[in-house]
Amino acid sequence: MRAVKLSADRLSPPSHPVARLPEEWVARVSEWGEPAYRGKQIFDWIHRQGVLDPDEMSNLPKSLRARLQEEGVGWPIAIVSSHESTDRTRKLLVGMPDGERVETVLIPQINDDSVVTQCISSQVGCAMGCVFCASGVAGLKRQMSDAEIVAQVLLGRRELSPDRRVRNVVFMGMGEPLHNYDAVARALVLLTHPDGLDLSKRRVTVSTSGLVKQIDQLGRDFDGQVQLAISLHAVRDQARSEIMPVNRKHGLDELTEALRRYPLSKRQRITIEYTLIRGVNDSPRDAREMVELLKGIPVKVNLIPMNPISASDLKAPDQSHVLRFQEELTRRGLSVFIRKTRGDDVAAACGQLAFHGESRRSPRA
Ligand code: SF4
Repeated sequence: MRAVKLSADRLSPPSHPVARLPEEWVARVSEWGEPAYRGKQIFDWIHRQGVLDPDEMSNLPKSLRARLQEEGVGWPIAIVSSHESTDRTRKLLVGMPDGERVETVLIPQINDDSVVTQCISSQVGCAMGCVFCASGVAGLKRQMSDAEIVAQVLLGRRELSPDRRVRNVVFMGMGEPLHNYDAVARALVLLTHPDGLDLSKRRVTVSTSGLVKQIDQLGRDFDGQVQLAISLHAVRDQARSEIMPVNRKHGLDELTEALRRYPLSKRQRITIEYTLIRGVNDSPRDAREMVELLKGIPVKVNLIPMNPISASDLKAPDQSHVLRFQEELTRRGLSVFIRKTRGDDVAAACGQLAFHGESRRSPRA
């Protein structure tokens, strides 16, 4: 496997002790006159064992545990409520010290619920304003810190019984992860660190609405090893700009050029997320133009029938229409999956994590 180029000295400094890397802990404990291995033990407690209360770090001397308390080691987020859906998808509402809240969702794999995908948030609200998305309704309230982002996975893992594990992490909760690049980059390094959670980089997906500069940066910093997903949702600039304002800044030509530059390995593909909205982006012409647009880019396409949100009057096409759209794409050579909505009875499906705000206008077709 190719080496990741990003190291601690190229990341922004951690915002919280929980977001320190092993070498940063080693440096910190050496300032306290402690040997290097103590720093590694602390990282192991936090990121491998999921223990964030210094009093429970039983192999550390009492004096060091007291230091860690003073240093502020502890949970940066806490679970406010937890709701499990009939398909065992569990939505956790988590609170932060300033009273802000975000959601993270544990989604069991169909046919094997011991394997879990966790959908995490990266911002409180979102500045991107996509009209079909509940997260964009209230706008951006604030960025989440590196520690708050990673702690969602540490908390999620703690919520599962020992026979179940978080195997995949997707940045598809609240927020545009690439609009909070520095915190997300550090979180990616922590989540995939071999001495910590040790998630495979191929199993961590960053989903973006199309921030081109940051897509390039992600490709450079992680050498293309982190999975990339693009919220495409329309294949003509005018239509896409109507439902995704980011497209007014970075149009489809610019976006697809960035995807062509993304340094994928041979077997990797970029995921294209396409929410099917009745009468907006679900015509046979849309399907044909998608094939043209994505020509030469290794992709797989996820079709997501629009989930109803209270803040919008947009609707999904009926099932036969969805299948016809899929057929138009597959017979032109694209790999296409229809994403089954999971957890929709707890409003945990994509574009539904968030506040319920005022009604948004409908886009023109
Ligand atoms: S779809 Fe993503 S980028 Fe768009 S408003 Fe929602 S969270 Fe933000």
